[in-house]
Amino acid sequence: MSRTVYVNGAYRPEEEATVSVFDRGFLFADGVYEVTSVLAGRLIDFHAHMARLRRSLAALSMEAPADEEEILAIHRELVTRNGVEEGMVYLQVTRGAADRDFAYPAAGTKPSLVLFTQKAALRERPMAATGMKVVSLPDLRWARRDIKTVQLLYPSMAKMEAKARGADDAWMVEDGFVTEGSSNNAYIVTQDATLVTRPLSSAILPGITRVSVLRLAAEDGLTVEERPFTIEEAKAAREAFITSASTFVMPVVSIDGAAIGDGAPGPHAKRLREIYIAEAEAAAI
Ligand code: PMP
Repeated sequence: MSRTVYVNGAYRPEEEATVSVFDRGFLFADGVYEVTSVLAGRLIDFHAHMARLRRSLAALSMEAPADEEEILAIHRELVTRNGVEEGMVYLQVTRGAADRDFAYPAAGTKPSLVLFTQKAALRERPMAATGMKVVSLPDLRWARRDIKTVQLLYPSMAKMEAKARGADDAWMVEDGFVTEGSSNNAYIVTQDATLVTRPLSSAILPGITRVSVLRLAAEDGLTVEERPFTIEEAKAAREAFITSASTFVMPVVSIDGAAIGDGAPGPHAKRLREIYIAEAEAAAI
């Protein structure tokens, strides 16, 4: 059945939802996005996603297409119209349509706003029980990874290379240290039970799930250290996992073919997944 998609002020069947070929998102990847998960028909961490959207827009001197209340209303309308119990709402803002020119168009060009939904099982994922395999690849993305732009070609290439090597995802490495996964933040739990993840900087995306998981881990008694770590350290770790809005907490059980710990999802990753989901669902709007 066709979905209803929101495009520039209108709700349309997906076959009829279009944007201009002159849209700078299409021509320059001049756009930003957010993905908000839905559990039991409600939005997880909506306001935090909107705060990050504002930050991305500001970093690119892009106008906000609508205020937060309007954007919330569109999210809810799409979730209702498309009957989404579990899945995601994707939101994209681009600088809009203008003659092709590297310089930004004159002020007043209307940004494009597109939202659509995707149904998916988020809570019950076979991979949460088996864990995922990652391979390390060089991080060849641009240097402003803290801005959530739609320029996602290298992460796609990295994901394809990981699959070609029989793995599920890539952990990217820069100057000897892991930055993050192709579409997620990366963590290890050391042999002395310290949770380690890279600190925020322009090298990684400030994950919304990361904020909650670091807080929950600390509340649960884990020591949290925000510092860079290497692939060698990760291979010697007790556990590894990733976080993102759509995977929540997902255990990593091997890196470049080497088993992490006993090669099965670790207890900390399992527990953080459980408590994250419980809290996210309770706070969803
Ligand atoms: N890093 C990258 C590169 C990502 O694409 C994502 C997913 N958007 C994340 C981290 C995780 O961020 P979040 O928890 O907000 O989904």
